[in-house]
Amino acid sequence: VIDFVVHDRPPARIGQIGLRAKSVIAVGSGKGGVGKSTVATSIALTLRRLGAKVGLMDADVYGPSVPHLLGLTGRPAIGENKKIEPIMLGDDMPVMSMGFLVEPDQAVIWRGPMLHGSINQFLSDTDWGELDYLIIDMPPGTGDVALTLSQALPLAGSVVVCTPQEVALLDAIKAISMFRKVNIPILGMVENMSGFLCPDCGKTYDIFGRGGARDKAEETNVPFLGGMPIDIKLRVAGDEGRLAEVLESDAAARAPLEAVTKSL
Ligand code: ADP
Repeated sequence: VIDFVVHDRPPARIGQIGLRAKSVIAVGSGKGGVGKSTVATSIALTLRRLGAKVGLMDADVYGPSVPHLLGLTGRPAIGENKKIEPIMLGDDMPVMSMGFLVEPDQAVIWRGPMLHGSINQFLSDTDWGELDYLIIDMPPGTGDVALTLSQALPLAGSVVVCTPQEVALLDAIKAISMFRKVNIPILGMVENMSGFLCPDCGKTYDIFGRGGARDKAEETNVPFLGGMPIDIKLRVAGDEGRLAEVLESDAAARAPLEAVTKSL
């Protein structure tokens, strides 16, 4: 077991599960629809852009959206070493998701132990290679997956995504308390959809309010990592499965994420 905060070490095996990564970071939220998957995927892409070797694990087994955001399809094969071969973004970023294993219109109906089993399989039976970071997109709300992860390996920490709306902030506080209960350190909070810059008039509209996450972060003693505005380009990119291309080509769209990622 290594000290994950020190990022300049070679990847080491984590515990008994055979995953070789310097740092495992879970991205969670109190409720769905706040942009957790978009932020998790974008953090992975930004770290990759900064030169890190990154894997992305979609642990939102009941609502996997990472394949859609990245426009990835396919069925993971079993390699010669009997490990599951993740689907690759480009030739360097392995991605694993329940979305690759079930038909898009099929619901996953599982009890806790099956969920536990699939998460462990994603971690230990997948051929991730040597990673600097494994970013995990968590399911919203529930503590099941957080508990499984915390038992399986030592995480470097978690990032909590929320919108500035009061109800979302209350749920975000629950997510913080959930991570604390399972002893996953909290690296910080990201405020998504904080303000909309109108491309026509240049005015900023605070559709969901503004600054709430910064205040709640302070109240709960959690670092505030930054905010991401509502950006139509991001929504369209996600819908069209072109998040990677858009973040790669659009410096303005990725600027807030670079700020968040650098403060991780
Ligand atoms: P969650 O994982 O919390 O359910 P998603 O990441 O799937 O949320 O995002 C929900 C929807 O909001 C998606 O259509 C996504 O493209 C959009 N979205 C997320 N963040 C932003 C943003 N900052 N600007 C515009 N659209 C966003």
